[in-house]
Amino acid sequence: MNNDSNDRKGKNARSNFIRAIIEKDLADGKNNKNVHTRFPPEPNGYLHIGHAKSICLNFGLAKDYGGKCNLRFDDTNPSKEEQEYVDSIKEDVHWLGYDWEDREFYASDYFERLYSLAEKLVELGKAYVCDLSAEQIREYRGTLKEPGRESPYRNRSIEENLDLFRRMRAGEFPDGSKVLRAKIDMASGNLNMRDPVIYRIMRKSHHRTKDDWCIYPMYDFAHCVSDSIEGITHSLCTLEFEDHRPLYDWFLEQLDVHHPQQIEFARLNLSYTVLSKRKLLTLVEEGFVQGWNDPRMPTISGLRKRGYPPWSIRNFCDRIGVAKADSVVDVALLEHAVRESLNKVAQRVMVVMDPLKVVVENYPKEKEEELEAINNPEDPEIGTRKVPFCREIYIERSDFLEDPPSKFFRLSPGKEVRLRYAYYITCTGVKKDDSGRIIEITCRYDPESRGGTTPDKRKVKGTLHWVSAKHSVPLTAMLYDRLFTVPSPEKENSDFRNFINPESLRVNNKCMAEPFVKNTAPGTFLQFERVGYFFADPDNYSHEKPIFNRTVTLRDTWARISGRGK
Ligand code: ATP
Ligand code: MG
Repeated sequence: MNNDSNDRKGKNARSNFIRAIIEKDLADGKNNKNVHTRFPPEPNGYLHIGHAKSICLNFGLAKDYGGKCNLRFDDTNPSKEEQEYVDSIKEDVHWLGYDWEDREFYASDYFERLYSLAEKLVELGKAYVCDLSAEQIREYRGTLKEPGRESPYRNRSIEENLDLFRRMRAGEFPDGSKVLRAKIDMASGNLNMRDPVIYRIMRKSHHRTKDDWCIYPMYDFAHCVSDSIEGITHSLCTLEFEDHRPLYDWFLEQLDVHHPQQIEFARLNLSYTVLSKRKLLTLVEEGFVQGWNDPRMPTISGLRKRGYPPWSIRNFCDRIGVAKADSVVDVALLEHAVRESLNKVAQRVMVVMDPLKVVVENYPKEKEEELEAINNPEDPEIGTRKVPFCREIYIERSDFLEDPPSKFFRLSPGKEVRLRYAYYITCTGVKKDDSGRIIEITCRYDPESRGGTTPDKRKVKGTLHWVSAKHSVPLTAMLYDRLFTVPSPEKENSDFRNFINPESLRVNNKCMAEPFVKNTAPGTFLQFERVGYFFADPDNYSHEKPIFNRTVTLRDTWARISGRGK
């Protein structure tokens, strides 16, 4: 299933400052009129909705301007990286609908090249081996108000530096005893330019290069060189790298190699959500959720399992656009995008979440009939289905009140309502158990109202969903809700774990569904009428006992606040 007409509105609808830069470059004939971007995840966690913004941006620009986008694993830090993350990242990018073709790259594939470019910096007198400890380097670095101090090792000769750097590589020195640093300016107003570290000694096995290396390049050096090697034209990154841009440019200028343009954009922040990989890892490791792909996680695999279709995420990324200033996007907008995307494709079914039995007294005991129900009012082409009706049915317990307030338009004694696609019924009695709990209600139906209208066209205000007691099938609903109870769990003056919503998952195995649901294929999106959108999670689906994840309820708070509601 796809819905591209819906999210590819043409590039004009999504113009932004990055498109303006690219269009100017194309008009000026820069980069031989090529557009080449990359998505550079570090394989130290699963991708989340923030990464989706970057993926849609990088792959989307390449697509719209006839260019290319690489997938590059920024795997320069062996201590936190794993193959499992590499595999999940590939799966998620593909699932989102993007393809890197044969351009799957790894910064670690460039280790040899990075090393020789570092030697080149040494030969140019632009890098030196420094014996200060990490702590001393921090001390010497100075502050925003005070300039830094030069390292006593700063003026080693080129020969000595080259010799020491080669011996660093050869494994002659212990971890942490020496680093290679760029020789820039200890008095620079930009702390990143105060002789940043380029290489460190670290005896850690790498998930790809194993034990080939005991020195590893730092991000700032590896990133710009990797971009350059791949012929990237526009290197898009989030705003926190703005202060690193002078360093990005400095390395490439010294090395005199292809020089992509770094452009920063605002990262996605979402209310009621944490997006820091470290915090997401904490949620997984401490068992607050059942894994990286738990449907409450903002990870792409979690959203997939929750029932968000890929085009709903692309729609969302389109809508939020790309800006230069940080902001927090209301998670209600994401939920709105998923409702909007599912509304058009989700088959409607009737499922009663909290069944209350209704006996239709004047309906013949043995009689059964099939009524016609519309599969999706938004898509007449997918037609209708038959729903069985008989003397005993279930309605939602919350749709009946014995003593209702004046604005209650659902069922109560003496009141008439419409059963969707079936008949008008009027409540004639209530049965209770010894404790006073209502266990059954009785009604009379109007045989003239078949299909939901009467010849005299009398009006009823309420329309209820229902299922036949005899034909319905039991179903388990996983009722997922937001994982956090406060809008900014990361900004509160307390640990984000204190704001986990204890009701973020409720399991309801009392649900009764119309028989159609039995034949649902795993991976199907359904709308349970009046209840919400649900997803047949392929990981634990069986036709005998269907389990559905609640993707989102039907209550659209975004439509309400933005005035777009009906
Ligand atoms: P960290 O570097 O702390 O591990 P990260 O979130 O930056 O975490 P990366 O794997 O480095 O993770 O991110 C890959 C790409 O996705 C980067 O280009 C980064 O800028 C982008 N990205 C990450 N988080 C967001 C976000 N919330 N919004 C937009 N882009 C993001
Ligand atoms: Mg990063």
